[in-house]
Order: sequence, then C-alpha cells, then structure tokens
Amino acid sequence: MGRSTWPTWLTEILSAAEKDEDRDRATFTVNSAFTRWREELKAAGMCTQGCGKPHYEKSSLFCEEHHMKALFRGDRRRQRNIANGMCTTCGTRPHDEGRRVCTPCAERSNARCKKRYETLRENKVCSQCRAAVSGRFAMCSGCRAKSRVATTERQHDLRDRGMCVACGKVETGGTRYCRACNDRFNEQRRAARKRDREEELRAAMKLVLERESEYFETGVKIVDAEYLEAKEIVMKKAV
Ligand SMILES: [Zn+2]
Ligand SMILES: [Zn+2]
Ligand SMILES: [Zn+2]
Ligand SMILES: [Zn+2]
Repeated sequence: MGRSTWPTWLTEILSAAEKDEDRDRATFTVNSAFTRWREELKAAGMCTQGCGKPHYEKSSLFCEEHHMKALFRGDRRRQRNIANGMCTTCGTRPHDEGRRVCTPCAERSNARCKKRYETLRENKVCSQCRAAVSGRFAMCSGCRAKSRVATTERQHDLRDRGMCVACGKVETGGTRYCRACNDRFNEQRRAARKRDREEELRAAMKLVLERESEYFETGVKIVDAEYLEAKEIVMKKAV
C-alpha cells in the first residue's frame, strides 16, 4: 500500500499508534485501521491494495495488476507447499496421502461446498450457471444435458485407456471399475438393501402390533393378506 494514497484519517491513526507505549494495543489499532480502510475501498469498488485503481472485473478485491500478483503469489505458495509435502490450503499441516490438503482443510472445504450446493438447491438455482431450476434437480436442463455428455465422454475416454471409470485413477485390466470402487459400490448396495429390509420389518411389526391390540380390545381379529404377509416377515426375523 503506497503511503501517498493513504487517507488523512488513516495517517492520523498510524502516527498516534506510533507513539503508543503499549505495543500490542498499537498493533491492534493499526490492523483495525487497515481493515476498515480495505472495507471502505471494497465498498467503493476500488482495489483494496490502495493503489487508487478500480477493482478488476474478475476480482472484488484487487485491480488487474494486484489480482495477477496475488494469483502469482498464491501459486508460488502452493508450489512450495506441494514440494514440502504440506497442505496447499493452510500450509501448516502435512497433506493427506493422495490429496493436496490436510484432513481439517478438506473437511472444511467439503462442508462449504455442501452448504453452497444446498442453499442453491433450496432456492431452485442451478449449481452451474445460476439459472432458475424447475423441479427437484440441482441443475437446469441445459447444464444437466451438458453434464451428461461430459460424463459419458469422460467414461468412454477412461474405458479406452483401461482406467476405472469411477475414480479415473486405477488401471483395471479391462473391467469397468477398479477393485476399490467395485467394493465401495457393493458396500453401498448392501447397506441400501439392509436399510430396505429394516424398513420393511419395522412396518410389518407395526401392523402386527396394531392388529393384536385391536384383537385384545374388540375380540375380533382381522386376518387378511396384508396381515399374513406382515406376520411372515416378523416370524422370519424371529427365527
Ligand atoms: Zn491495485
Ligand atoms: Zn490444511
Ligand atoms: Zn444451469
Ligand atoms: Zn476406481
């Protein structure tokens, strides 16, 4: 931030802070003043580096020059972190195996993505192009069609190269999915079947209990196909 572009109120705060005996308080004052200035610049549509230029169309914070500098700095930091085996987001923890980020950073980023996705979905806005969406979809019909084509093309390409079409990372020797992805899908299917069975059993037990209590109260037992089926499900589970 060039001194020449500092507003008067900022220079005044800074010179007062210079004379402050309490250095911690002075640091805090200076930081808060710069934060306030950056906020003012941002609100005014100016580069927050205080260079006096308007912000670049691709950045709400910087002019074109400072945007490029920030990108370059970010990229150099990223490369350095990768080279040192550190997380590219926080740079303070080693990254996980097979990922460029550490577990806490990955979780935070996943949570953010999920939240954004859910908000868009709730508001019926396409997650790709921000157009209005009709129905229960996450994307508009145009983006859905595009994504279908892209997925199929990607899968064909992976298949041609003998790679797993799900993860795209493992050579499969001719099958569609690698061992790990196949196991994962099987496990998902198994869990879904288990859920279905549990759901079925719960419904059957509820029906049988209702009929039993009706019989207890009225002395009349309604035995129909529905009841017999439910009874069979419950009995099968009991043995
Ligand atoms: Zn600038
Ligand atoms: Zn991290
Ligand atoms: Zn769209
Ligand atoms: Zn795979």
